[in-house]
Formats: sequence, C-alpha cells, structure tokens
Amino acid sequence: MKLSRRQFLQTSAALGGALMLPGATHADSGGEKSPLHKSVGSQATICPYCSCGCGLLIATDAHGHITNVEGDPDNPVNRGALDPKSIAVRQLSNSPLRLSKVRYRAPGATQWEEKSWDWAIEQIAQRVKKARDESFVKTFKVGDKNVAVNRAEAIAWLGGAANNSEDCYAASKLTRALGLVYLEHQARI
Ligand code: SF4
Repeated sequence: MKLSRRQFLQTSAALGGALMLPGATHADSGGEKSPLHKSVGSQATICPYCSCGCGLLIATDAHGHITNVEGDPDNPVNRGALDPKSIAVRQLSNSPLRLSKVRYRAPGATQWEEKSWDWAIEQIAQRVKKARDESFVKTFKVGDKNVAVNRAEAIAWLGGAANNSEDCYAASKLTRALGLVYLEHQARI
C-alpha cells in the first residue's frame, strides 16, 4: 500500500499514542486485568505526630498495610501539604511492635494480661468515678469566706495531635462536667 507523507505521519502518531496508553488498549481489548494493578483504597485520617493534626490520605493493600501517604487537599489544616515526618506513619502502622489490643498489668504483678476493650472502658469509668468522688472539693476558703469551687483535683486530662475539633469539644464538655481543672494539650508540653 502506498502512503502519502501526511497519511504516514497520521498513522505513526495514532500507533505511538496507542503504545503510550497501555491502559486504554487493555480496556479496549476486554482482556484480563494485570495482576500488577493492585486495588488500593484511599482513606482520610490525621497525622499522629505533632499537634498540628494535618490531614492525610492513606492507601492500604489487601492486608491493611499502608502503601501510600499523601496530604489531604480537602483538609483545612494543611490543604494537601505535609512535612517529611508524616510519611513515617507508614512505619508506625506496619510495625509488628505496634500494640493493637488492650494489655493490663495489675498493681504488683510482673506479667501483662490481654483484656477486651469493654473491660478497659468499664475500668476507666469506674476509676474516674472513684478518683473524682474521693478528690472532689466543693468549697475553698478565701479570707473568711468559703467560696464554691466544685472541682476534682486528682485527675488530669491530656489531649493529643490526633484529637480533632469535635473530639476536643466533647472532651472539654465531659471533663468540665466532672469538675476537672487540669486540662492540657500535647502542643503545650
Ligand atoms: S504532617 Fe508534620 S506538621 Fe503536620 S501533624 Fe504531622 S508532623 Fe505535624
């Protein structure tokens, strides 16, 4: 077949474009999906390192291991920007040393026991109630007057980078309702 110069250039460009777009030709051919194409989901979360609480988009493989970390462009805190520390969230999450279950060591014991989350939550609630009741101060003497203070002095509350605004709002409501006065945040320590 005899091609004109124009026809030759058009055919070459079309062939070159097809070779450079293997995904398109793969889809058009209706063939099997390559096993090299791993399906990964991307989920929004928060960087746990410093108290900025930058938004991350995290992709995981089928085993839940993190394969990619990027800044979340929709998060108003960082608008997609991240510092290098955030990338280490991958090592933190994929580490076999990371604890994912409740472990408890009773006073005086030498061994750790594995406990359920329900057990832990009930224990925390009981101990907070006991400490609050035992340390609650209703009044404080100022000069010759007793002033009402209604505070629990034996409990402190510490927030961290992974607490978002809604967490902090709920925490401040709960702690002030209990009478706590020692509320602090990781950023100030
Ligand atoms: S990305 Fe950097 S600045 Fe943002 S929370 Fe993580 S450590 Fe802090």
